[in-house]
Formats: sequence, structure tokens, C-alpha cells
Amino acid sequence: MSDALHRHLTRAAHIDEHAPAVTLGDEVWSFGRLERVSNQLARLLRDLGCEPGDRVALAVAKSPAAIAAMHGVLKADGVYVPIDVASPPQRVARILGQAGPRVLLFDASSLALVEALSDLGALAGVHIGALDAVGDAVRRVTPRFGPDDVDAQPTDAPTAHRAGDDVAHILFTSGSTGFPKGVAITHANVQAFLAWAVPYFGIERGERLSGHPPLHFDLSTFDIYGAMAAGASLHLVPSHANVVPRALEAFIAEERLTQWFSVPSALAFLVRHGAIRRAAFPDLRRVLWCGEAMPTPTLMALMELLPHARFTNLYGPTEATIASSFHTVVQPPRSASEPIPIGLPCGGEALWLLDDDLTETAPGEVGQIHIGGVGLSPGYWRDEARTAEAFVPHPFDATPGARVYRTGDLGRRDDDGRFYCLGRLDSQIKSRGYRIELGEIEAALAALGTLEAAAVVAVASDGFEGATICCAFVAADGTDEVEIRAALSEQVPRYMLPTRWLRCAELPVNANGKIDRPALRRRFEEARS
Ligand code: AMP
Repeated sequence: MSDALHRHLTRAAHIDEHAPAVTLGDEVWSFGRLERVSNQLARLLRDLGCEPGDRVALAVAKSPAAIAAMHGVLKADGVYVPIDVASPPQRVARILGQAGPRVLLFDASSLALVEALSDLGALAGVHIGALDAVGDAVRRVTPRFGPDDVDAQPTDAPTAHRAGDDVAHILFTSGSTGFPKGVAITHANVQAFLAWAVPYFGIERGERLSGHPPLHFDLSTFDIYGAMAAGASLHLVPSHANVVPRALEAFIAEERLTQWFSVPSALAFLVRHGAIRRAAFPDLRRVLWCGEAMPTPTLMALMELLPHARFTNLYGPTEATIASSFHTVVQPPRSASEPIPIGLPCGGEALWLLDDDLTETAPGEVGQIHIGGVGLSPGYWRDEARTAEAFVPHPFDATPGARVYRTGDLGRRDDDGRFYCLGRLDSQIKSRGYRIELGEIEAALAALGTLEAAAVVAVASDGFEGATICCAFVAADGTDEVEIRAALSEQVPRYMLPTRWLRCAELPVNANGKIDRPALRRRFEEARS
């Protein structure tokens, strides 16, 4: 059985407790501090009656204290559930309803959210704890504990038992029916990725890794536990740097990052604004991306600007833990139209191109990418039906319980066996790195009850942001897009809000009477050109 994930921190603290572990601006936490605070939180959670496998929701900003909280939950034998604090309360309430947490931790970033959740009745029976000194700032909620209560606990570790195939965290991702899907990830899932990735990338003690994705994105798991496993420091990217290219450039330079890992749009943002000077970031050894296709022109620009860095494309869904295949780009692409392979399976993983009946497609033919191996999640939290639909019996391995995950991605292989991702079979899209089911937006629009009909499609943006979300709607009573947008923003996060709107007398339908989405897409494309 693989070791518990939090053991990496304990080992790193044992080797050098004073070494910097996590930084955010001027705030620097050593491995020792992280270890002690996470032990104290774990003890407090146990005192509150947390049982093995209990969920602890983390409605907190990305910070050293949040990283301590993740470790604390694991040390208490719990399962943490990172919450997107920028999501509307109604959506967070749905997530909490599914996760069923015993405890919710909050901080200054989520005061309004916590009060709204309380008003919605979503916190009934949940112990609320403040992670920083903001407990008094919430009026309609009475926290059970605050930072002083954590501080008062002994600093030695409680004995933890969960590891291996036990669930460590649940990551909620967009769901096409309007209900976010909770992907359960085990200790072993993450450990298996680290066992391949840390040596493959040669991550060493004392290195400085970026912490760019939000904590509810699975990419952040690699930054956090990869840093702990190697004894490297994690440098959390402050939120303002994500919107000011020069600030992001200054951050990478000043923190002397040795590894950058993010969705491609973060890198495209820098390139597009000309924010990287030639041979900038002399310490940067590796640039990794995952989560969506890297536009080839962006990669060409990056490889020219940073000739000393090594560039790796990682591919994979949350359901298969961080990444399932990789391709290190040795030669810059020869032309802007050359696709970047998603490469070969990472250690312990396997990829297949299969038909609907799970037979392998002929060499050179397109098939749906299926993933098997060590990264496969046990499934969606408390959702057997969706789990059975997406995780299907392994077609080539008769071992009981062997499964493959249907990614919904179309792929092909080249003569060298390298995989390419060609797009989606369904209406899941990526917009600025966010995974979005267009069906979730449509379900939220339908639930508003003010529209006669609405359909949401995505059209390609100028190659940098992924896709633009477009909504066509029919509203008899004159409801306009400003009103719809305002109402919708209470149901879905901002990144899911359509940016283009089209009022129609009726939605176009195809011969089967279904909404003709290709026709709608064409309308939006034509309206732009
Ligand atoms: P997520 O669960 O947010 O990681 O999203 C997974 C989906 O993102 C995959 O099923 C793909 O559609 C897409 N994706 C992930 N990595 C890549 C990549 N390197 N290139 C192209 N698409 C990717």
C-alpha cells in the first residue's frame, strides 16, 4: 500500500525543518511550521469528532495556511474538498450537499460566501472553523473554532491510518446536468503520479516551483505534493499577477522559479502581452503545461524566448489524476500549424484509442482516448450512475475490477506511437483553462424560469483563451441579456458566463427537431467576421 500523501511533508520537515516550504509574497512558511500547524489542526479536527473518511470543506484562498490545512485534514484521516470561493453560493451549496462535510474551514476570502451558505441552510450540522483571525467578522455564523484554538493544540502528529486506496480529496468539476461532479482522488493516485513525475522532471531539494492553479484544480496537487516530495519550495502565484502580465513576469523572475506549471492560457497571456524578454528567467529549467491544447505559435515564441528551458506538454483529465501522458518538445515546431503531441503514457498509465464498443481503432484512425492504470479515480463521489458510465470494465484486462476511463477526447497516434488529442466528442470545453460543461450553463439558464429556450455553444477565440461561450435565447417577455447575465451569475461561476448573446425568435432545429448547434455556432462565427 502506498504511503499517505502527508508523509512527504513530515519527511521534508525531518530533513530540514527550517527550509522554506511555501511562500506567498512576504509570507514564508518553513517545512517545520507547516508540519506543526498541520499537526495541530489535525488534533483539533479529531477533538471535534472527525472520523476517518469525514470530509472537510476548505473554503479558503490559496495560501500557506491553506496548504497546512490540506495536510491537517489528511493527518486527521479526513478527506479535503477544496471549494472555489469565487463560485456563487448556490453552486457551492450544491457541492456541499453532495460532499456532506463534517467541517468547513473559511478565511477572509470567503466571509460573504460563508454567510450566504448559512442563509441557504447549507451549513446545517457542519462545524465551521476560521483559519485566520476573521471569526468575528461573520455575523450570521458562529464559528466553532479559530486560529487560537489551533494554536493551543500540541504540535506533535496524531497517528493517521488512511493511505493507499483511501480517498484523500474530492475535486468538483463542471457537470453537464447542472450538478458539479466530485472526482474522488486517493492517496495512491497522487503518489503514483509523483513516483513518475518527480524523477522524470528531476525535481530536487531546494528548487523553487510555481503554484499557479487554484486549489480546486487537480494540477495544483502536483505542485504541492511534488514540492513536498522533493523538499522543494512552492511559490504561490498571487492573484493580482494573473491579471497583470508584467506582475506575472516579475513574479517568475524575482522568485527565481526553476519550474513553471500551469494551463497554457497563463503562458499565452505572457506571450501575447510581450511580457517575456529574451533569455529572461535564467533559473527556469522546466516549463510544463496541462489542461488544454497549447497553441503552437505560443510554444514557438516561448521556445525562442527561453532557449535554456525544457518544455513538456502533459495531458489528462482530473479523473485520471493530474496527467496521463507527456511529450517533451525537443525541437521547436517547424510551423504554426504543426500540432503538439500529447505524447506517450506516463509511468504506470496506459492510453488506448477505442470505438464505442471498446474495440481498438485501426492504426492511424481516430478513436476515443481511454485511460487505464494507476491514476484512475475510484469514481465520482456518491454517484454510481455517472461513475459506471465513465469508468467502464477494462476491455483487455480480465483482472477483477480493472477499468478504463472514457475521456470524451478524440485522439490519433502517429507512426512513432505518440498520441495527439483532437478535441471533444461532447460539449465539454476549456475556457482560459477552466473545464466547463456547456450543459451546466444550459441547466442553470433553464432553472432561471424566465426564458422560453436557450442554448449555449462555444466558438474558437483568437487561439489564446480557448473558447468563447455564446448563448442564444428566446425570451417572450423582453428579458434582455443584461438581466439574464445578472441572474445567471448567481448560479454559475463568472468564468462560465457567456460573453456573446443572441436573441432569437426561435432556436434553429435540425431534421430530428433537436437544437441545431452547428448552425448556431456558424451564426456566432459569422457575426464575428
Ligand atoms: P481537466 O479535468 O480540467 O484536467 O480537463 C481534462 C480535459 O482537458 C481533457 O479531457 C482534455 O479535453 C483537455 N486536456 C487536458 N490536457 C490537455 C492537453 N495537454 N492538450 C489538449 N487537451 C488537454
